[in-house]
Amino acid sequence: MIVLNVLIEHAIYALNRPFSYAYEGKENPQIGERIQVPFHGSLLVGYITEINETNKSKEEYEKEIGYKISFANKLLDDAPLLNEELRTLANEVSKYYMAPLISVYQAMLPPSLKPTSASLKHAKIAYEKYVRIKDYSEDELTAKQLELLRLIKNNKNVKKSDIKSLSILNKLIEYGRVEEYKVEKSRFSHETTKEFVEYELTKEQKEVKDKFISSTKKVALLEGVTGSGKTEVYISLVKDVLTKGKDALILVPEINLTPLMMQRFYNLFKGQVAILHSELTSGEKYDEYRRIVKGEARVVIGTRSAIFAPLKNLGIIILDEEHVESYKQDNTPCYHAREVAIMRANHFEDCKVLLGSATPSLESEARALKGVYEHLELKIRINKKELPLTKIVNMQDYRNLDKNSMFSKDLKSKIEETLNRNEQVVLLLNRRGYSTSMLCRECGHIMRCKDCDIPLVYHHEDNLMKCHNCGYVEPVPTRCPKCGSPYLAKIGFGSERVEELVKKSFENAIVLRLDSDVGRVKNNISSILEKFSKNEANVLIGTQMIAKGHDFPNVTLVGLVLADLGLSLPSMRSSERTFQLITQAIGRAGRGEKKGMAIIQTYMPNHYSIIYGARQDYKAFFNEEMRIRKLQQNPPYTFASTLTIVSKSEEVAHDVALRTIDLVIRQSQGEITAIGPSKPYVSKDATGFKEVCIFKYKKQDLFRTIMQNILNILSKNSSVSIKIDIDALNI
Ligand code: ADP
Ligand code: ZN
Ligand code: ZN
Repeated sequence: MIVLNVLIEHAIYALNRPFSYAYEGKENPQIGERIQVPFHGSLLVGYITEINETNKSKEEYEKEIGYKISFANKLLDDAPLLNEELRTLANEVSKYYMAPLISVYQAMLPPSLKPTSASLKHAKIAYEKYVRIKDYSEDELTAKQLELLRLIKNNKNVKKSDIKSLSILNKLIEYGRVEEYKVEKSRFSHETTKEFVEYELTKEQKEVKDKFISSTKKVALLEGVTGSGKTEVYISLVKDVLTKGKDALILVPEINLTPLMMQRFYNLFKGQVAILHSELTSGEKYDEYRRIVKGEARVVIGTRSAIFAPLKNLGIIILDEEHVESYKQDNTPCYHAREVAIMRANHFEDCKVLLGSATPSLESEARALKGVYEHLELKIRINKKELPLTKIVNMQDYRNLDKNSMFSKDLKSKIEETLNRNEQVVLLLNRRGYSTSMLCRECGHIMRCKDCDIPLVYHHEDNLMKCHNCGYVEPVPTRCPKCGSPYLAKIGFGSERVEELVKKSFENAIVLRLDSDVGRVKNNISSILEKFSKNEANVLIGTQMIAKGHDFPNVTLVGLVLADLGLSLPSMRSSERTFQLITQAIGRAGRGEKKGMAIIQTYMPNHYSIIYGARQDYKAFFNEEMRIRKLQQNPPYTFASTLTIVSKSEEVAHDVALRTIDLVIRQSQGEITAIGPSKPYVSKDATGFKEVCIFKYKKQDLFRTIMQNILNILSKNSSVSIKIDIDALNI
């Protein structure tokens, strides 16, 4: 008989150990394959971690170990899912991030190969289901159903896989309002439409490249101002790596937002490129994954989880825009692609990691300055293009304001001038929707989400109230739900309102808006960016999405409608985020022949993140921010991690969190600062009430030991669930 040790698909701490099953099937199981096993009355997917042969019978074996074991069902794979290097990596990630091992395997693999029951429904072959309107009528629909119906109506070629709320879609199909149709999907096609010129590296680029190659350090940070040509350096390094017969892995924050970089890589490396990102269908992902496994693709470009791409002979890992927070996963395992990249590079003899950014994270810059990472710099923009002129406008001073108060006189007149010169404008407001909340003027009631308790945001486009956390929607009320008064006010403003105002105020404005609402339909983002780059519109309004690495030569004015928006959020990172956003946004102006200008509207004109952001003075910002971090003993001076306790009972969550904090304080003898418990901004959701404990410490090993004790206690408590976020960004 064969005895298999199997990890169960439920990624919870209480089940974070292998369970034994007897196996008598025909095929030979191997470590790293999936197998279906019975578990507490249901059939689950398991992942084989160990195989033992015994010449005992099942009964004899059970007698020896002292408990009964079940038979495993069907073997699901004919080869291990992950090679040895990736299995080692999984162990390291699980240990570092204190995440159940199975959750790491799940994060590493594409949908059709994940060790989960859901994976079995994912097609390994690619075909695509679409939905369209069959019979348009809004009668008798709930707000959620209405929202989806309008979304489908307003968009062509809506893929079923793009629709998050399948149950609502199914209702609409059941009512005959929407129908499904299938399209045979040709496999993921790597289009190379654009022709690119090959550049000779500039002297500065070449120096950076040489220094990277000759460095004895495993990791290098490339700090290069916007437009300094970091991409060319990446490309040149990747070429070298391929020549040496090794593979290259390039991570970008969001594929959508970097179409040019993608096309450039395709163009150069053709069939050797594979792409891994969330917008691919599961069939496409499976295909790309197989191409990498088979060694056909040797350059992989992708978002966060592409760090786990099964390349066998890594020669370089590049993280572009390393400071972007989407490199950190928000749910278990809460890994950061940068840290995983370094773990992985250590598996290969001469694989190095290159981190690139115009505004490096404080963590990376601090390490570079200390000499842990090689510090590389690109200080000049290509062709010596100057950075745009910037002006900070104090919005507290009414004399600066135009009569509508959202735009200053400066911004308004500059928009006018720019449009009249047939040049383009980018306006950034990092908040989507129309207004931030709906307030009753009579009783002061603010409409809130029934699950999350945060204010609902009014959306003009589909005329609904929406929760930005969980996606709950409801119709716009005509009367206050509390007192019945008809006097309701829309408070605050978001990107939709800026769009409305621009259309009203500038008659020659042709406006496009880009935010995650628009991005809910696939390809919308790239088509908007394409239109804007073809000058089919002259104003682009959006959230931080438009601040990312786009290259629009005709943009000569960037306006930050309210630059301090992020500063009011209670986070030790709010200054860093604000500085990065301003710097990145300003970098969009004046990339072509003409000189650019940026106007920064703010209520906090004296805040250092705004002043240094406007000056694009990274060094000054870094020094000031480090001073404050040191005073407050925040990262990078310490490590900071969070433990979130979730329970259906508010008291239980609070009580358990309190006791946890106590325990940590008692066990750590002053080595760990424990803060809280406190309620996060979104203090509850469908899973329950949340309480967060924050821990700051210098000794990582000590923290892990204590945390492991806590986990052992908490995982026995079935009234709470927990989440551990090591090196949390949200504190
Ligand atoms: P970054 O990523 O640092 O912001 P990019 O890589 O987007 O900068 O480069 C800015 C611009 O300069 C791009 O249009 C790019 O094609 C161009 N460029 C980069 N390197 C060179 C070079 N060596 N010679 C000429 N143009 C270059
Ligand atoms: Zn009221
Ligand atoms: Zn909600």
